[in-house]
Order: sequence, then C-alpha cells, then structure tokens
Amino acid sequence: MAKGKTDSRTAIGLKCSKCGNMTRRHTEKNTKNTTDKLELNKYCPKCKSVQVFKETKIGK
Ligand SMILES: [Zn+2]
Repeated sequence: MAKGKTDSRTAIGLKCSKCGNMTRRHTEKNTKNTTDKLELNKYCPKCKSVQVFKETKIGK
C-alpha cells in the first residue's frame, strides 16, 4: 500500500570550509539515506585550490 510518501530530498548548498565561499549549486540529497552532513572536495575559485565543501542550508 502506498501511503502519501514525503519527498525526502532536500536542496542544499555547499560552503567552502576554508573561506566560506558558498556555491550556488543546488545539490539534492536524500535525507533518508544520507543522514550525515555532506562533505565534498571541490575546487574553490577563491582559494584557488580544492577544498572541503560542507553542506549548508540555502534560502530561496
Ligand atoms: Zn574557499
């Protein structure tokens, strides 16, 4: 039986852990499967190097 299933995907932003530069990229994560905070290695144009980007909430 299919109950009204809730959308567990959440739009998030990613923020450079070094300089705080935030990407505008929307990354969707499934909060059901991914309960931990996301941490991704991405190139930061401010730091001009690859940094750890951490999940952050984004407004509209
Ligand atoms: Zn940075």
